[in-house]
Amino acid sequence: MTSITLINPADESVIQTVEHSTIERVDDAVARAVDAQRRWAALAPLERASALRRFASAVDGDLENLARLEVANSGHPIGQARWEAGHVRDVLTYYSAAPERMLGSQIPVAGGLDVTFLEPLGVVGIIVPWNFPMTIAAWGFAPALAAGNAVLLKPAEWTPLTALRLGELAIVAGLPEGLFTVLPGRGDVVGERFVTHPLVRKIVFTGSTVTGKKVMAGCADQVKAVTLELGGKSANVVFADSDLEKAAATAPYAVFENAGQDCCARSRILVERSVLDRFLELLEPAVAGVRVGSPTEDSTEMGPLVSAAHLAKVRSYVPDDSQVAFRGTAPDGAGFWFPPTVLLPGSRTDRVVTEEIFGPVVSILAFDDEADAIALANDSIYGLSGSIWTRDIGRAIRVSRAIESGNLSVNSHSSVRYSTPFGGFKQSGLGRELGPDAAAAFTETKNVFISSD
Ligand code: NDP
Repeated sequence: MTSITLINPADESVIQTVEHSTIERVDDAVARAVDAQRRWAALAPLERASALRRFASAVDGDLENLARLEVANSGHPIGQARWEAGHVRDVLTYYSAAPERMLGSQIPVAGGLDVTFLEPLGVVGIIVPWNFPMTIAAWGFAPALAAGNAVLLKPAEWTPLTALRLGELAIVAGLPEGLFTVLPGRGDVVGERFVTHPLVRKIVFTGSTVTGKKVMAGCADQVKAVTLELGGKSANVVFADSDLEKAAATAPYAVFENAGQDCCARSRILVERSVLDRFLELLEPAVAGVRVGSPTEDSTEMGPLVSAAHLAKVRSYVPDDSQVAFRGTAPDGAGFWFPPTVLLPGSRTDRVVTEEIFGPVVSILAFDDEADAIALANDSIYGLSGSIWTRDIGRAIRVSRAIESGNLSVNSHSSVRYSTPFGGFKQSGLGRELGPDAAAAFTETKNVFISSD
């Protein structure tokens, strides 16, 4: 059996070693999940709801511990990590209402009664990346469990600690043994086995577009359902008529949060040409003001990158001859640090403009008018997120309808809310997570006609 030694990204100290799951262990977990799911789905809806509420309460009781695990394993600032643990609790609480609201419909037909049922799929495999280990896991497992499924969860190799703890908390909360199993391990072993195992009926994958395509192709082999949350290169579009002070003051946090390791990062700032110079003047002190430092400090706003390998990847996008407008600060010494960096690329096709860097690097481009802004925002294989800054309500409506993206905010950089749907257009993904309909995405609709003869 192989293992991974986890390294604290802020100081490069060794945290612990985690054993990888084997294919045999995955197969055993699937068999136990099949059994647990049948019993779980047969419970009264209120019993499933109560179990999820106990799970939420166990997470709440462990909030500080979960947050500290994320600080050590992923380098997330403690304030952010506490928010993430609280978000997991809130997602569980939100979907604990779903078991009693899995509503089918009654459809008028001749000769009898026609009703639909939302039947659970069975066993669901959830594959999670390293950027938001516990929140992204919860977006999958909470609605999947609520809809009556069993869940197998594969955390990213680098960041398994909060997922493993959530697996323990599920047992503490009294969820049936085998219903929710966390299987740390390699993507090309554990993740691939989820895809190829015939009794895993749906895959929820979050990660890179390259791996997502591979997962989708694998799912096609068994006509397996799949939800994909993939990369992004989102635009923050700033019009001349906007509140420029506010747009500039908030722009750093829309891209440098989580050190830019965020699929929703607004990593292209598009500014109307007539106000570009003024915007840059306002942006420079805002970038310098981002507090980059030890993730254990309450005041820290940005921590290190997740790993040495990822730091090398981010660095490769900013060679010495890059057109750097200005940078923020970052600590020296041990740890995988990279300062907030603002680029002024010479062309709209530069790779820093088109590729997902997944680090604290933002490119600024000028546009001429509304049509140019829309064309530039849409000039991407991705379409996940984005922001629009304008005081003209008509323009806000036109531009938000025209941008090909799943999640937009006007005069703000709203983060993800558990009560609203989240997902991408184009190569940013397939399907939606969160919001009122997420539990239904873990069901098959069954139609039953009952003759009145
Ligand atoms: P991956 O997409 O490779 O990893 C995401 C998850 O998929 C991990 O759990 C990984 O396991 C697993 N996985 C890897 N290969 C397979 C496979 N063949 N079958 C099933 N599961 C698999 O992302 P990377 O970690 O390699 O990151 C590369 C880049 O992707 C980043 O720099 C960033 O640009 C982008 N990315 C985007 C994310 C997003 O939220 N949109 C999240 C993460 C990355 P393991 O950890 O063992 O490799």
